[in-house]
Amino acid sequence: MPIRLYDSLNRELKPLEAHQKDGVFRFYNCGPTVYAPAHIGNFRTFVVNDVIRRLLELEFGKDKVRHVRNLTDVDDKTIRRARDEGRPLAEVTKQWTDKFHADCAALNCLPPHVEPTATGHIKEQVDMIEVLLRKRHAYRAPDGSVYFRVSSFQEYGELSHLQERELKTGSALAGKPQTADADEKEDGSDFALWKAWKPEDGDVKWPGPDDAAAGRPGWHIECSAMSKKHLGDNIDLHTGGVDLLFPHHENEIAQSECCNGVTFANHWYHSEHLLVDGKKMSKSLGNLYTLDDLKAKGFSPMALRYSLLAGHPRKQLNFTLDGLHAAESALKTLRAYRAALPAQGGTVFVDQPVLEALQDDLNTPGALGALFTAINHHKPAEVSAEHFDRAMFALGFDLQAAESPKAAAPAEVEALAEKRWAAKTAKDFAAADALRKELATAGWSMLDRKDGYSLEPLKK
Ligand code: AMP
Ligand code: ZN
Repeated sequence: MPIRLYDSLNRELKPLEAHQKDGVFRFYNCGPTVYAPAHIGNFRTFVVNDVIRRLLELEFGKDKVRHVRNLTDVDDKTIRRARDEGRPLAEVTKQWTDKFHADCAALNCLPPHVEPTATGHIKEQVDMIEVLLRKRHAYRAPDGSVYFRVSSFQEYGELSHLQERELKTGSALAGKPQTADADEKEDGSDFALWKAWKPEDGDVKWPGPDDAAAGRPGWHIECSAMSKKHLGDNIDLHTGGVDLLFPHHENEIAQSECCNGVTFANHWYHSEHLLVDGKKMSKSLGNLYTLDDLKAKGFSPMALRYSLLAGHPRKQLNFTLDGLHAAESALKTLRAYRAALPAQGGTVFVDQPVLEALQDDLNTPGALGALFTAINHHKPAEVSAEHFDRAMFALGFDLQAAESPKAAAPAEVEALAEKRWAAKTAKDFAAADALRKELATAGWSMLDRKDGYSLEPLKK
């Protein structure tokens, strides 16, 4: 069965197909901006894309998939971070690239075949901008920046269905807030391909395209240039989180198609955002988690992976610590079940319903449901280990990965918890509440369950 996936451009389920003669499936996934640790929302997108990569390998063969995911290592955020810390840009971006790699490995995400950086592809970006200038799809602004002329590309807005949005909101583009570069542009909707150097950029600058000032590339051209270099002019699938649909991906299409003269991507897929306790994650709300925050609370990275797949990728997913507890216990069940499988001879293939769900628009909750239905229905002795492992491969669950050690509470905290549990069981709720407060002062929270409790360090 082919993998069918929703296509954001045509708004329909379409099979994923390799369009080039060599039969290699060309897959581009927009990567992280490396200026801080990625948060668990970012990892929802990367874990979902990792499942796509795994399905592609199963469908086309391991050596017939080419997966490119870039690193955005120069933009306003990375430059600001380096300036604030008084460090060279390359040092800051290397620190966060290394951290990103470590987190991806802990989450069992397969590394992409190529991981190009924006700073490593300045020439490719400049070359593309020069073609766009020559074809009059771009123009030089008075300050030496270069902008893309949106009115020169008829199809602009097709991916994000801009016309419909304009009908709803008046004019989506005209309604955009005035940006600092408004005076430089011919039209408010034009976007930067090349940004002329400004004093706040420090020593971050490269020689620009013909006639343009020294400076740095805009964000959108990075992906167009890296995709062209490593996958060619026409790719089979381009993905990212839903926030990238407009303007990032819309602008990538405009740049690539005007430069190369062919369709940029045959299929577009966008996964939805992760919410935490029903709200958008943000530092100011104090609900932004990194993988390290969850590890400090005693959770394993594999449990995070599991809970990120527990919701349909095209729907918003609400992350909770309760969900993470449930994921830990589901993984425990899978580990115990796997340990009980016969080395050979099982005749029940649990990967079939799992793969069917995943191939049907990446229905990850459906796949998990099908897996548990199968293992609830069949004794381990009946089940083929090889096929069980194939299901684990598709979902990316590494059952060998060590269960994360619980953060150990100091003895006096354990003692308080024991006292509180005793008070609670004796229905002395006033004493139990007082002890909960004592625990909180000591920096711990106690989670009650039917048959006991666990201790978790409070988030600082
Ligand atoms: P960035 O590092 O900001 O470029 O984002 C990396 C990826 O994470 C992009 O594909 C974003 O669309 C995605 N992303 C950002 N915030 C969230 C979120 N809350 N939930 C899911 N994905 C997100
Ligand atoms: Zn991108």
